[in-house]
Order: sequence, then structure tokens, then C-alpha cells
Amino acid sequence: MIFTKEAIMKKAEEESILFVRLQFTDLTGIMKNLTIPIDQLEKALNNEIMFDGSSIDGFVRIEESDMYLRPDLNTFMIFPWDQNMGKVARLICDVYNSKGESFEGCPRNILKKVLKQADNMGYTMYVGPELEFFLFEVDEKGNPTLMTHDSAGYFDMAPNDMAEPARRDMVLALQQMGFEIEASHHECAPGQHEIDFRYEDALTAADNIMTFKLVVRVIAQKHGLHATFMPKPIYGEAGSGMHTNISLFKDGKNAFNDPEGKIGLSEEAYNFIGGLIKHARGMAALTNPTVNSYKRLVPGFEAPTHVAWSPKNRSPMMRIPDKRGISTRVELRNPDPSVNPYLSLAGNLAAGLDGIKNQIAAPEPVYENVYELTKAQRKEKGIVDLPNNLYDAIKELEKDELLMDMLGDHARKKYIAAKIEEWDAYRSQVSQWEIDRYLTSI
Ligand code: GLN
Ligand code: MG
Ligand code: MG
Ligand code: MG
Repeated sequence: MIFTKEAIMKKAEEESILFVRLQFTDLTGIMKNLTIPIDQLEKALNNEIMFDGSSIDGFVRIEESDMYLRPDLNTFMIFPWDQNMGKVARLICDVYNSKGESFEGCPRNILKKVLKQADNMGYTMYVGPELEFFLFEVDEKGNPTLMTHDSAGYFDMAPNDMAEPARRDMVLALQQMGFEIEASHHECAPGQHEIDFRYEDALTAADNIMTFKLVVRVIAQKHGLHATFMPKPIYGEAGSGMHTNISLFKDGKNAFNDPEGKIGLSEEAYNFIGGLIKHARGMAALTNPTVNSYKRLVPGFEAPTHVAWSPKNRSPMMRIPDKRGISTRVELRNPDPSVNPYLSLAGNLAAGLDGIKNQIAAPEPVYENVYELTKAQRKEKGIVDLPNNLYDAIKELEKDELLMDMLGDHARKKYIAAKIEEWDAYRSQVSQWEIDRYLTSI
């Protein structure tokens, strides 16, 4: 939707909106908000709302903590739930510092910077994300349990799929929030689901990912359930991915499509793939940013473990779905829904553009199941592993100059520090697995 300041003021009055949530995302991908009563809306639309950024992860120190929220007018939306208590709307904001400069730790600004580079090369990035999530039962106090809501599997129907009513309400709420929903289904694991929405330009897609997670969690709660986007909540079951379908458009045409090219792909597509392959390991700290992300990237659950691409097979990190013409795209299969979508998409685009700029050749595609190749066979094909854990991923990110530059001085320091803290907190834990393995045997 394209909105002006006046149109938002008018709509707010017509709809008797009581509050507006000014939303933004911290560096680690958590949505934050400052809620203003409606009489402050004009001030907000004039970019005059200030907040203290010192307690936000990855933001600033106390001494320089005055920050400003600049709403993106096109993101104005009314929440469809709890309307009988008075309507609440939201605006997604960019963060600015007190000097009126765009704040370098604002993930949305970081994505915009890379989008600008693409724009200078004539490209617009479109993204269609596929988010998977789990629904768990809650206890009498409303706290999440580890009991999945049902025991159904891939594409199952009611009565086995017990989440039809919840998914239906999620789809309806998402539609009311402006999403075009393409399909929804039960996923492989018990209690696991997927709702697919239409691709959009990358900035809208990143905003949509944040909104999607909020809507799914709120509606699940209204159904007495807990929705989680944790990548691997249950050992031995499939984890939740966020396949990221990417295309570039130039002069109104899909730049990856070339009916004359090998398997219908253009040179740009091959170079984009080359860039994604080259930076895959460095990108992992952005596409798979949590300790738990790496529990998903193990063989046997349709999640990738190796840096390779295929026109068909779903085991490598990247697949080229069959469709050509305007739907020609690469499906990046390693990202998971714990990402900061602004940083993950920025990383994907920076890597792909590097491929195009420097004509990085894509390696030979693989046609076989990568899980079944021996180490020697993978070596022969030049296929390397994705990082095994968050620590290795951070080290790879630090080595990747392109991605470090993309993040900029402030964000890379804060991001890496936050992730090292997360890793250190994890590695000092003693898990049940260790007790079971060592307590009596040693
Ligand atoms: N859940 C799988 C993953 O972790 C994907 C399964 C699918 O979409 N077919 O990526
Ligand atoms: Mg899917
Ligand atoms: Mg799926
Ligand atoms: Mg997919």
C-alpha cells in the first residue's frame, strides 16, 4: 500500500485507532516496539519520536542513546485482532541517530544500503520466503510444553492435522494484514506447519517475515497453543527452515531467465549462484544465526549440510525450482526462521551481486543426493561443508570481507559480540546428552 502522511491521519480517524505501535528490529532479529497513543501520531509521522536505544541489543551505549524512529509510511497496517478493545495499528520504522543520520546499527538500513547497490546496477531483488514453524501445547499456566499439538505428518488432513482451525485463523489474519497467501499445509514433523505467501521486493519481504512471525505467534496463543520458529525444537524430527526464493529483475524482466541459456538460466543467474556459493560459509552466521540453527543442518531431514547447488535435488544448499519465465529463481535452502531477515537477505544479495560484478563462475551442479556422496567424491567435486556450529560460522563471517563491509563497523562488532556471547553461554552448559554418555561410562 502506498500511503501519505495525510492519508494515514485520515485513516486513523476513520477507524478510531487508539494506539500505534512503532516497530523496529534489533540486530539479533527480535522485533521491538514503542507504542504511542493516537494523539502522538502526527509527531511520529514527522519523525519526531525519540527513544532510548541503550538497552536494545546491538544498538548504542548510554552516552549516545537518543535515537529517532522514522516510520515507513507504506507499512501502515491495522492489527485485525482484539479490535473490540479499540483498534491498534503499526508502522515499521527505520532508526536514525540524533544527528539525523540513518543509524548504522539498524538492520533495515543495512538491507536498504545493499538494495541501493543493486539498484545502481539496474537490479531489483524479489524474495519469496517459506517459513516453517511448530505448534506446541501449553500447560495450565499458559507456558509452552514440549508436547506437539498433533502427531500428523507431511500434507496430512484433519482429524490427524489438528491445527486446521489455527492455521485457518492465521491465514485470515495475515490476509487482513495485506499478505497474499498462496498455500498452507502440515509439514513433515509432528506439530509442524508451513504457510506460504507471495514474493515481494526484498524490503517488503523482510518486513513480511517479521510480521508473519508475530501474527502466527499471536493467533496460536489465541488458540491456546505456542508457536515457535526455533529451527530445531525436537531431536530426531525435521527442523524448521526458511527457504528463500530469490530472483533479480532488470528492466521489468526476470534477469535469471534465458530460454537460450543452459537449463534456461542466464549468465547473471550462474554468476549469482557463483557468488552465493563463494560466500555461503561466511553468510551462515546470518542465514543460520543461532546455536540451535546448526542442530537442523544435519543429514536426513531435508535440510542442507553442504555448499552446492542443483537444478533438481533437494539435498544441497541451493536448488533451481522448475519454473522459468518470470518465476525463474534460486531457492536457498539453508536459511532458517531464527534469522534477522534484513541481515540475511542483505547477505544473500551482497553475495549474489559480488558474483555478478566479478563474474564468479558457478561450480558444476550436482544431480545426486549430496548426503550419499562419500567425502572423497565431495572433494573431487569441490563441495565443502556448511559450518558445523555457530562458532565456526562466526569465524567464517569474520573472514568474509564483503559481508563484514556490508554490515559496517558498528553492526559487525555488535553482531559478532552478541553471537560470541551466545556461543559462550551455550558451550559452558552441561547437557543431558553428556550426562547420559559419560556419567556412568567414565
Ligand atoms: N523442514 C525442512 C528444512 O529444514 C524442509 C522440508 C520441506 O519443505 N520439504 O528445511
Ligand atoms: Mg515449501
Ligand atoms: Mg516446507
Ligand atoms: Mg521450498
